[in-house]
Order: sequence, then C-alpha cells, then structure tokens
Amino acid sequence: MEQLKNTRFRAKRWDRNYEFTEGRLSLRDYKTLEPASSFPNHNGYVVCIEKDDGFFDIVVPDSIEIIPNPIQQTLQEEFEKEKLKREVAEAEAKEEKREIITKEHEDFKMLMCAIDKELSVRGCDHKHSNFYIACKKLEEFRGYTIDRVKTLQYLESKGGYCDCEIMMNAQFCLAMIKK
Ligand SMILES: [Zn+2]
Repeated sequence: MEQLKNTRFRAKRWDRNYEFTEGRLSLRDYKTLEPASSFPNHNGYVVCIEKDDGFFDIVVPDSIEIIPNPIQQTLQEEFEKEKLKREVAEAEAKEEKREIITKEHEDFKMLMCAIDKELSVRGCDHKHSNFYIACKKLEEFRGYTIDRVKTLQYLESKGGYCDCEIMMNAQFCLAMIKK
C-alpha cells in the first residue's frame, strides 16, 4: 500500500466529457467526498484522482491506468539484475559444493559398501554401472551432489577402471582408514 502513494495514475473524469486527469489515487465518501480513511463510511465510495494542485477529480474506475514512474522502473531493473546475480552466485556455490569422494572423504567407506552391494546384485560389466547407481543412492541418503567425473578420476588413478577393480582397491584404501 505504501508503494501506491508514490504511484501516479491516469484516469477519465466522471464529469467534463471524460477528460483525462493525473495524480495519486484515493477513495472518498460518496456523499461527503471526505477522504475514505478519515471517518466511518456508510454511503459507499467514489474513486478519485488527487491532483498536485490540491484538488481532486472523481474518475471512472474502469479507465484507471498506472503511469510508469521512471525511477521505479530503474529500481525494478536494478532489483532484477541483483536477483539474477544472486541466482548465478548461488548456482556457482552449489557447483562448488559437489563432493569428490576420495578415501579422505568421510563417506568413502559408505560409497565402497554401496558399490559392493550393487556388484553383488548385477556383477561387473567392466564399466562403472554399479558406481553410478551407488553414487545416486549415496546422494539420496546424504542430500549432496557427487562430482562423478572427479571421483572416477580419483578411483581410476588408483587402478579402479571398472567396479570390481574399484573394490579391489577399496580393500587397500579401507585398510589405511583408521577404525
Ligand atoms: Zn570389473
């Protein structure tokens, strides 16, 4: 409502051959023509345009249009730009938050167990099908996103070129994890 005070309107006058008039919008008592908020109204309201010279015109409600305010428009554009910037920054932050599951990661053991479990269901297809399924399950469980490319790069650097090779390495890696 505050914003309405600064918004300018254009509307056709009720009298004077529907001439256009401009100013702020208000409601006035139908009979007394006092401003609507100043006393209880029993008579109904008329829509008025309050003019800069202190006078007001009763207008045809159907004819009311907002006059675009250049300052408000600029503010709106600035706001949209800022919003876009924020969204890009948030998306980038999310991107950075992707987990790379190396043996230093607290969920490394969990990922290995998940791959092992999938392997026992469908065996190794000499690719990383079980790895991808395990990643998806871990993501659902933990609520984060795994950087599959970098995690696989890591696992391959340890000799894990397929799911069962990952598991063979995992034995080695797990042995190095304290517990
Ligand atoms: Zn294999």
